[in-house]
Amino acid sequence: MPINKRKILLRGLKATGGLRLLESTSAWSGLLVLNYHRIGTVGDSLFDRALWSASQETFDRQVRLLARSCEVVGLDELPDVVRGLESGRRSLASQDRFAMITFDDGYLDNFEQAFPVLKSNGVSGVFFVTTGFVDETPLAWWDEISWMVRSSRCESIRCESIRCESIDASVWSGGRVVIDRPDCDVAIRSLLQHYYGLDASRTVEFLDFLAEATGAGRAPRSLSDGLWMNWDQVRQMRAEGMSFGAHTVTHPVLARLSPEQQSFEICESKLRLERELGEPITALSYPVGRRDAFDQRTQTALSHHGIEWAFSYYGGFLTRDLARRRQVDRLDIPRVAVESDTSSADFRSYVALPQVFSRH
Ligand SMILES: [Zn+2]
Repeated sequence: MPINKRKILLRGLKATGGLRLLESTSAWSGLLVLNYHRIGTVGDSLFDRALWSASQETFDRQVRLLARSCEVVGLDELPDVVRGLESGRRSLASQDRFAMITFDDGYLDNFEQAFPVLKSNGVSGVFFVTTGFVDETPLAWWDEISWMVRSSRCESIRCESIRCESIDASVWSGGRVVIDRPDCDVAIRSLLQHYYGLDASRTVEFLDFLAEATGAGRAPRSLSDGLWMNWDQVRQMRAEGMSFGAHTVTHPVLARLSPEQQSFEICESKLRLERELGEPITALSYPVGRRDAFDQRTQTALSHHGIEWAFSYYGGFLTRDLARRRQVDRLDIPRVAVESDTSSADFRSYVALPQVFSRH
């Protein structure tokens, strides 16, 4: 169903009390995987505000609803859950309705804000960590692009504004991007889209181009202090029931890399986590996660390095019917995005009727 029709349907359900009725009669079976990035209050951050999925209070409400409606599982239970769905055996306790709460990237607020909520509700969360961010604590490219745009004094970004000859202006074919103050969201999204499409060998050049074109320069190193979790925190969370998967070393769009580079990103992040946690790592989530962010070469590399489960990020959920037909692609487990503009009604609709509302 197209997104506009879903919105109209949701508005109608809310107005007529239909959403409440749906919640009480909802009948689905399968695995609904939700994906978050950051938890907390966005305030006037110069970073990418779209990454704040929910405040801590909202996240707590969402976790409570999930715990009431489904059996919340982590990576440790995943193989049994999928095998159970495939076998067609019905689990009376959970009515075969499972949910997984996942986080990408490894921001410190995952430890400070999300972890206490998960613990207090007695459920497990799954954290996909970009290992190079934990080790090197850089500013992520999306946060740096946002910072450059929000720090800029220019009206717009365009190629002609560059005078520095060391930068090849062909990294930018986006014409003129007007900086839409005060939010700057349209400009930031448009520049991020441009970044996604670049060959990996051009991405540093593009950041240098933006540093010039915005007049902001590259972000100072100190901006990323205290942005990421550290390994002690990761180990503590694991010891208290959370589970971990890889999310590459540097968070590239894997499909834009050579097979050798893809292999390095996958293998190194898995090995790094294994060294820190002292256990096998068999799951990964694709950076960016859209259908075009990974390809067959990515999945070949995953299988080669012993990754058995990989999670995408373009909506949908794993239905019991699909599982019974043995059509679960373990290297493309669908996830539903929880984002800054996800309303309470949106979230309730994902949980009550994912068949309709979990698709992007
Ligand atoms: Zn990510």
